[in-house]
Amino acid sequence: MANCILCEEGARYEDGILVWRGDDCRVVLVHDMNLPGFSRIIWNRHFKEMTELSFVERELLMTIVFAVEGAVREVMKPDKVNLASLGNQAPHLHWHVVPRFLDDAFFPDSIWSNRVRDTANDVLERRRTLALALPAAIRAAISQLY
Ligand SMILES: [Zn+2]
Repeated sequence: MANCILCEEGARYEDGILVWRGDDCRVVLVHDMNLPGFSRIIWNRHFKEMTELSFVERELLMTIVFAVEGAVREVMKPDKVNLASLGNQAPHLHWHVVPRFLDDAFFPDSIWSNRVRDTANDVLERRRTLALALPAAIRAAISQLY
């Protein structure tokens, strides 16, 4: 679809690293200095709402979301995981999987809220190092599904 950032993203990933791509959806590790491990699952074709997908497609998408959540928990050991599908700014089906920590910049509010603190640099650095293992863990989790 014209003027859709997530349709156009196919050729470039300025926003993150492409971790995995299947026929129907893809997984991107988002570049966010404040939120290491922030991952996104994006449906490849342009749909706006979950109920535009067939039952089989919905199940596939959520299965991938849960596989990513599992990998994020295993690698990042977060205090909480946030799953979110908003699409107000990019109305193209995608899910956010965000490892949350009691000391992250926005906790306990959503990551789109105002920053409430600065996380210690050494803590953030440790989490960024952990996140380096995430692409392989996500690919391993997805490969177990098929
Ligand atoms: Zn789109």
